[in-house]
Amino acid sequence: MSKKGRVFSGARPTGRQHLGNYLGAIQNYVALQTDYDCVYCIVDVHALTTVETTQELKLNTFEMAVDWLAAGIRPEETILFVQSHVPEVMELHTYLSMVTALGKLTDLPTFKEKVAQQPENVNYGLLGYPVLMTADIVLYKTDVVPVGIDQAPHLEFAREVVRSFNYRYNTKVLIEPQVKHTEILKVLGIDGKAKMGKSLNNHIELASTPEETTARVKDMVTDPARMKRTDPGNPDICNVYSMHKIFSPAEEVEMVNVECRRAGIGCVDCKKRLAANMNKHLEPFRAKRSELASKPDEIQDILNDGGRRARAIAQQTMVEVRDAMQLP
Ligand code: ADP
Repeated sequence: MSKKGRVFSGARPTGRQHLGNYLGAIQNYVALQTDYDCVYCIVDVHALTTVETTQELKLNTFEMAVDWLAAGIRPEETILFVQSHVPEVMELHTYLSMVTALGKLTDLPTFKEKVAQQPENVNYGLLGYPVLMTADIVLYKTDVVPVGIDQAPHLEFAREVVRSFNYRYNTKVLIEPQVKHTEILKVLGIDGKAKMGKSLNNHIELASTPEETTARVKDMVTDPARMKRTDPGNPDICNVYSMHKIFSPAEEVEMVNVECRRAGIGCVDCKKRLAANMNKHLEPFRAKRSELASKPDEIQDILNDGGRRARAIAQQTMVEVRDAMQLP
């Protein structure tokens, strides 16, 4: 391996991505490609634990893959694939489930959250989710998994499962994944309060047109204490200012910081500037996206090719796993 090791990360097929996904996850995925061999998985099987119908899975997988590719995932070097294309993961999940204590699974906070969210559908898959996640990670001999603070307990769980398996079968065949803590930027939605997300409809879609983006920015909530144009504002608590820091040139950020505090610039003007800078930043992404989206067969080829490459690694791992378990 030429690089520092292998990175694995998976995300559920949530369709068109928004600025929160982009700034909080995708940009990091893109950057990791420089130093690591990356394996990025669209986890459609995990999605089955919560979806009511599979009707939209294909479309959502396609839209998400297009966004990732347009944002800079390079499929020639990175393995980009769909989880269900590598059925070996279900087999490994079963073997790992036999070395996993039930109490550990029921104790995980995410399981409890899901039970609260969908009490009418507490399926076995919800409980086994972290075991399947562990199988995803170790199947590809992953060295490093990038995680934010909220995912840290799951990675610790995965490491414990690996240790249990290796101990039970007196082997070193599975690699304990290392955690790469990433500083997860929490992007707030246009309401300025909650984390940006589709369910709250407070998001800005990456694929939206410049006009749609400008309209969403116009709806962004600013410092609520600033009632009139002549009131001074407080950029420190304003989400528009936070976005300026990401998308605007340094001089303009400083200008907004100074002028907002003394009511030299109004929110309308401030948002117009932000929308212009955001649109400029997203221009290359949009051009690439529309080019990719016009060739759905090529996207499918990329995912199929990724699946083949992932499966070759997975099959090799499974030979070693079955061997270590002395399966007849
Ligand atoms: P998943 O169920 O796979 O976490 P999400 O769409 O919620 O699906 O998130 C995908 C990725 O995007 C995750 O890494 C998540 O942390 C990141 N993400 C989503 N929304 C935001 C946000 N508002 N700010 C920062 N990161 C976000």
